[in-house]
Amino acid sequence: MVDHTGSGPTAASVDRALRRAASGRALDVDEAAALLTARGDALDELLRVAGEIRDAGLREAGRPGVVTFSKKVFIPLTRLCRDRCHYCTFATVPHRLPAAFLDRDEVLAIAREGAAQGCKEALFTLGDRPEERWPAAREWLEARGYDSTLDYLRACAVAVLEETGLLPHLNPGVLSWSELQRLKPVAPSMGMMLETTATRLWSTPGGPHFGSPDKEPAVRLRVLDDAGRVGVPFTTGILIGIGETHAERVDAIFAIRRAQRGYGHLQEVIVQNFRAKPDTAMRGMPDAELHDLAATVAVARVLLGPRARIQAPPNLIAGEYDLLLRAGIDDWGGVSPVTPDHVNPERPWPRLEELARHTAKAGFTLRERLTVYPEYVRAGDPWLDPRVLPHVSALADPETGLAVEAARPVGRPWQEPEEVFGGRTDLHATIDTTGRTGDRRGDFDSVYGDWSEVAAQADASRATGSGVDRAGAAAGGVDRAAASGGDAGRARRRPGRRRASGTRTCVPGCGWPPTTRRRCSNRATPTPRWPCSPPTVPRWIGSAGSPTTFAATSSATTSPTWSTATSTSATSATSAAGSARSRSGSGTPTRTGSPWTRSPTGPRRRGRPARRRSASRAASTRSCRSPGTPT
Ligand code: SF4
Repeated sequence: MVDHTGSGPTAASVDRALRRAASGRALDVDEAAALLTARGDALDELLRVAGEIRDAGLREAGRPGVVTFSKKVFIPLTRLCRDRCHYCTFATVPHRLPAAFLDRDEVLAIAREGAAQGCKEALFTLGDRPEERWPAAREWLEARGYDSTLDYLRACAVAVLEETGLLPHLNPGVLSWSELQRLKPVAPSMGMMLETTATRLWSTPGGPHFGSPDKEPAVRLRVLDDAGRVGVPFTTGILIGIGETHAERVDAIFAIRRAQRGYGHLQEVIVQNFRAKPDTAMRGMPDAELHDLAATVAVARVLLGPRARIQAPPNLIAGEYDLLLRAGIDDWGGVSPVTPDHVNPERPWPRLEELARHTAKAGFTLRERLTVYPEYVRAGDPWLDPRVLPHVSALADPETGLAVEAARPVGRPWQEPEEVFGGRTDLHATIDTTGRTGDRRGDFDSVYGDWSEVAAQADASRATGSGVDRAGAAAGGVDRAAASGGDAGRARRRPGRRRASGTRTCVPGCGWPPTTRRRCSNRATPTPRWPCSPPTVPRWIGSAGSPTTFAATSSATTSPTWSTATSTSATSATSAAGSARSRSGSGTPTRTGSPWTRSPTGPRRRGRPARRRSASRAASTRSCRSPGTPT
């Protein structure tokens, strides 16, 4: 039986999609959306297919029949938020709280109680940048010497690591590239629900995300990509039943798949069902139906494949453990024996014994994992920062990457690892004498994700003619369009192109031709030199030396624009794009050692032998007076 109305998918289209899924064929959006309507026998068949895919993935991971969970404490660092999601009861107003934030001692008290009961994860959940909306939050932070909520979060995470040994998992909402980098050393994993890619739910008055700047889908998709670039094991997911169509729901799953294929960093995908709460604007909306949830989990499993780790929160499923396990989940998420679920306080987590019993009844074994999934624990670098690695290693089974259930967290210092010089020391010679021996670095797949996906993004970028291709950034700052000879790449590779007047500009976009070989005629340039200074800042490097990030202004996948990573919304990101072309405060781009920054080398003049070009560049470099430029 198929549940559909009006112009929805027909029974025949559901059957066809089921046959394709069962035979391992790729599904398109229409087919996946059709599967979401499966009910009765068709749903049973869909669950069977999804379950087989999950089982194959667990066998491949070396833990057949194992369903995982994480034993945690929930730390609501602040319940103030600058957003106004219409279904949220977590966010509140300052006068309903004793203080804008939990203070450090309160945070540590919760963590210590959790450690005493064998918890290994400290889940920090908090509102998004409350200081930008609430003076009370701003004043609280200022009084204690913190510039922002994220600064305070970082300090609390360090305190938890040092005092209790619990592993922080950070859920602070939207983060920029640089904020992800700053938080990575204090947490083995982070997360942010994508929720939906339906922009209309954010932009239309009355929509569940209207008035919430951090819920713009393009912004959240950018966070997923940035987390991948930074190499953060990341949790994301979708929220179903908030007014999205089936096609929009499937689109969100496809977006998650795209991000995962690009970077391989999405350790877990949560499929969460909307439950209406009193005291919210959406209290009259019906709850997402459980068969709808099961069908969505199964479709997510089919689309994301056997290696995806898919979770459904056990306190939101009304006891339907067996249904969700049949649908293809392999994780129950974080469960706390100590604290309530502050986001859904009316729905307590099941006791661990109960969860284990229901899991066993369905034919699985419940095992504890850490906040960071076993695959990333075993891989270690580059997913785990050396400063948190000892904390993770102390609680993890090195064989399986799962938690050692008997281990008790103990606080240990959080500090820079001792400098032990290692690695290759011959690069300065071999790069010049031997050159590259491959077209990409040896660990490309583990660092940057699927090569074919990156190449496909580069092709798409060239086809749309966007200035800087996204895949190029994903490939470590190497301009793939240039490398492969695309038109856009050629334009950038030959910055000294000849103008109609017969003069040259140093870099495309600079309207100032050089008056002599080594002087730019742009007198506004503080340190004139040849090549002239402003254009030596590549336009894909931000004004503070941070890389640009990918932000879509209207469509996350089809209309990309590039802007600086320091902005937190697509709007501000776009407005910051102008500053990306201006000079950094030090006069030259900052060389951060990041794979996304490039050394500002001057252009080559055509028609001169290589040896003379080198000499010319060396002379040019010697004459440069700009601070921060190699001399
Ligand atoms: S961003 Fe999160 S905390 Fe803030 S209102 Fe929305 S759901 Fe609530």
